[in-house]
Amino acid sequence: MRGDGGSGRLDVDVVVVGAGFAGLYMLHRLRRAGLSARVLEAGGGVGGTWYWNRYPGARCDVQSLEYSYGFDDDLQQNWEWTERYATQPEILRYLEHVADRFDLRRDIQCDTRVVGAAFDEETATWAVRTEAGERFTARFVVAATGCLSAANLPDIPGRDTFRGPTYHTGRWPHEGVDFSGRRVAVIGTGSSAVQSIPIIAEQAAHLTVFQRTATYSVPAHNEPLARDRQAEIKARYAKVRAANRQSMAGFGALSGLGPPQHAMAEVDAGDRDLLLDQRWQEGGLGFVAVFTDTLAQPDANEVAAEFVRAKIRGIVRDPAVADLLTPTQVIGCKRLCVDSGYYETFNRPDVRLVDISSSGIEAITPGGIRANGEDHEVDVIVFATGFDAMTGALSRIRFEGVGGRTLADAWREGPKTYLGVAVAGFPNLFLITGPGSPSVLTNMVTSIEHHVEWITACLEHLRGGGHRRIEAEPEAVDGWVAYVNTVAGLTLFPTCNSWYLGANIPGKPRVFMPLPGFAPYDAMCADVAAHGYRGFAIGQPGAT
Ligand code: FAD
Ligand code: NAP
Repeated sequence: MRGDGGSGRLDVDVVVVGAGFAGLYMLHRLRRAGLSARVLEAGGGVGGTWYWNRYPGARCDVQSLEYSYGFDDDLQQNWEWTERYATQPEILRYLEHVADRFDLRRDIQCDTRVVGAAFDEETATWAVRTEAGERFTARFVVAATGCLSAANLPDIPGRDTFRGPTYHTGRWPHEGVDFSGRRVAVIGTGSSAVQSIPIIAEQAAHLTVFQRTATYSVPAHNEPLARDRQAEIKARYAKVRAANRQSMAGFGALSGLGPPQHAMAEVDAGDRDLLLDQRWQEGGLGFVAVFTDTLAQPDANEVAAEFVRAKIRGIVRDPAVADLLTPTQVIGCKRLCVDSGYYETFNRPDVRLVDISSSGIEAITPGGIRANGEDHEVDVIVFATGFDAMTGALSRIRFEGVGGRTLADAWREGPKTYLGVAVAGFPNLFLITGPGSPSVLTNMVTSIEHHVEWITACLEHLRGGGHRRIEAEPEAVDGWVAYVNTVAGLTLFPTCNSWYLGANIPGKPRVFMPLPGFAPYDAMCADVAAHGYRGFAIGQPGAT
């Protein structure tokens, strides 16, 4: 390492790929540890998710005061959030502020897509290649490439024949889109669609929504964040952050209802609706925390699911439309959505719901979309079709590890990691919120901060011991993969076709990728570190 007087031939100690929440904080911590780093970012600016996803209605669905960095008290005290759930422009401004506040930009290179990285066993270094042909050598690579950054544009027949403009929510034009007077199609009904549909409907002449799977959504009850409420939380911010770090999902400390107390069966039938109604009134993702076993026991889940189904039937006036909008799968199995007027939008006379659950979209034509044998004429198509989640961004980089083996090859049957941080055969490569870590089942900022801090401590440990190489042991990876499967198997998560399982991408191996449960995971990572990074081979072979 340069930082400890090692080889001066490297460009930097660490190449970090990606400049979202993860890459920005990683850079900050590396610098503080005295390591040199270069962040390579494909986008034209910092912000990651919040740089790319500029669709109307985009905002966080974990409360802003929790969905933000906790590592610097001055930052969290000084930054004022204006809404309970901040909009995309506000979160992007926040991340730009972080980049400026900590003087990060001088080590960030935007408009730079990493296409490959090869590990040299003799020197224990990585050679990173960019699309433009640049090369960077580094002792370590940190992939801060994002779980939801590789947009999924489905290969629907005729997709490229459409006459009008098409947009993917995750690649939204910076100048915005004016839908006024246009007939618009939205494909998809996940979180991005749920947020954008009410706003597009207000602007467009007509909106047609193509729904493959009906979605559960809980109201956000978004509102301006009162100054005194914000001040009250900031006065106990350290406690709020600490509580989230000890929770199952990395957030929830601001909930007036707290974590679940009882399994569904322990609650009198008469009280269940009361508890459910309290969660519904509070709004947001905490709804599934109504019972301790909502995500583990089919009966408990069904009680919560049926409550939401009844709400949908109560909101949507046309019973046939309400029926189509009513999900049948387990609630929370696909990620829960949080909305502002989603179901209500289907009461508008200028909005039509098209159920494509049985045969999908037949074709995109020059004039619109054909489904169920009917041609729907539209001027604009919005793909709210999600992402090649968790592995998509990583698999688009040709990582070549020991013996030239590629990551694509190592993960042919699905991603295999140790702690979600490291991969056997790929020394000196760290993943932030990689598959096998709680990541997308949590407040991602909590998970990101945890990983960044764990990786930094690991690098400091290596430097302290004069080591230049670290690699996950294959047995540790096998054990970890089995553990993730066991934990997932105790939940209802594997019971539907979610992106957590890769089921949204044709041909992707069906493997449950995230690990449920932040708090136990945090403790396990700490334990691994406390035991000299158990499960990692350090300083072998050849290079110490
Ligand atoms: P990202 O923000 O995705 O950043 C990764 C960066 O890596 C991107 O800028 C990308 O361009 C870059 N990159 C990838 N591959 C390469 C490459 N080969 N070369 C160079 N650069 C590359 N999570 C929550 O917890 N709460 C929320 O409310 C929430 N809301 C969300 C809303 C939307 C619309 C979406 C899409 C996701 C949301 N998420 C939310 C998840 C969100 O992705 C994370 O919270 C967080 O922003 C991830 O940060 P990151 O830095 O890990 O990844
Ligand atoms: P998503 O949840 O994967 O939803 C994609 C939608 O497109 C689904 O309804 C899916 O149907 C549909 N779809 C995919 N391919 C299709 C095809 N070929 N034909 C027809 N329909 C198709 O993606 P997303 O909405 O972008 O959200 C992804 C994740 O990002 C979220 O789960 C969440 O973690 C995060 N996010 C959060 C927020 C927020 O509220 N803060 C907002 C946006 C995103 P199926 O369900 O049948 O696959």
